[in-house]
Amino acid sequence: MTITPIKPENHINAATTDTNNKLPIVDCVARARIPTTNGPEIFLHLYKNNQDDKEHLAIVFGEDIRSRSLFKRKTPDESQKDRMIRGAYCGKLYPGRNIADEYRDPKTNELLEKLYFDKESGELLSPSNTTNTTTWDSQNPTVVRIHSECYTGETAWSARCDCGEQFDRAGEYITNVNGGNGHGVIVYLRQEGRGIGLSEKLKAYNLQDLGADTVQANLLLKHPADARDFSIGISILVDLGIHNVKLLTNNPDKINQVEYPPLLHVVQRIPMIPLSWTNSEKGVHSKEVDGYLRTKIVKMGHLLNEPIKLHEPK
Ligand SMILES: [Zn+2]
Repeated sequence: MTITPIKPENHINAATTDTNNKLPIVDCVARARIPTTNGPEIFLHLYKNNQDDKEHLAIVFGEDIRSRSLFKRKTPDESQKDRMIRGAYCGKLYPGRNIADEYRDPKTNELLEKLYFDKESGELLSPSNTTNTTTWDSQNPTVVRIHSECYTGETAWSARCDCGEQFDRAGEYITNVNGGNGHGVIVYLRQEGRGIGLSEKLKAYNLQDLGADTVQANLLLKHPADARDFSIGISILVDLGIHNVKLLTNNPDKINQVEYPPLLHVVQRIPMIPLSWTNSEKGVHSKEVDGYLRTKIVKMGHLLNEPIKLHEPK
C-alpha cells in the first residue's frame, strides 16, 4: 500500500478544555471480527449512547483493544454463550468454543489465561488482579482517526469531497502500524454532511452549483458551517481504554475537541495530505474537490499548507 510521507507534529498544545462538561454515556452492544479484503482483521464495535439514537461505530485494528462497557455483565444470569454472541470474548471464536472468559493461544488453542472482569468497570483483571498481558496498555499512544459519515463520498463515488479517500487512507495507515499487523482505531460517527444530515447536504450541493462555497451553502440553509460534535467519539475512545492519541487529521477544531484532559490527550497529529496533491494519477481530481479543500483551508483553518494547483474560485 502506498502512503504519502507524513510529517508528525509532536506534543500538540490544544486549548484548555472544560472537563466539567459531562461526556455522553456510551455502551458497546455488539462486537464482531471482520476479515477484510486488503488488510488485517478488524473488530467492529457498535455503540449506543444517551444523546442520540444513531449506531456509532469503532473500527478497531488489534484484538487487544476492547470496549470496557462490552465486557460488563449485561444481565445477572448472562451465559458464557450470550457473552460470545455479543462479542464479549478475548482471542478468537471457533466451532465448539463454550467459554467466553478465557484466553487461548490462537494457533495451538492452549489455555493461556482464565479471565476475570470487574463487573462495574468491565476492566479485564488477571487472576491475581494485577495488570494482565492480553489487553492493550492504555498509556501506549494509539493511532486514531475520528471519521464522520459521508454517504456521497464513501458510497456514491462523489468527487465533491475527499472523505472516501481519507477513510481508505486512515485504514491503510493503521494497517501498516506495528509492522503491518495493524493497530489503531477509526471511530465512525454517524453525523452526515458535517452534522446537518443527508437531505440538507444535498440542498447545500445545489447551492454550491449555484455559486456558493461549502461554508456559504451551510449558512444559507441556516446551519452552522460545521455542526459536528466529537464528544461521542471521545467517550468511545475512553471506553476502548485509549488515553494517548496520535490523531490523523488536518482539522484544528477536532484536535481541540478531542483533547479532553485528564481522560484523553492528543500527543501527536498525523497530517492527511490529499493524494491528488502528490500524485496526478491518484486521488480525487475535480474542480469541486479543489473548491472544497480551498474552503477548508481558507475559511475553516485546516492545517493543510501545500495547496498545489488549486483552481481559483470564479
Ligand atoms: Zn464527504
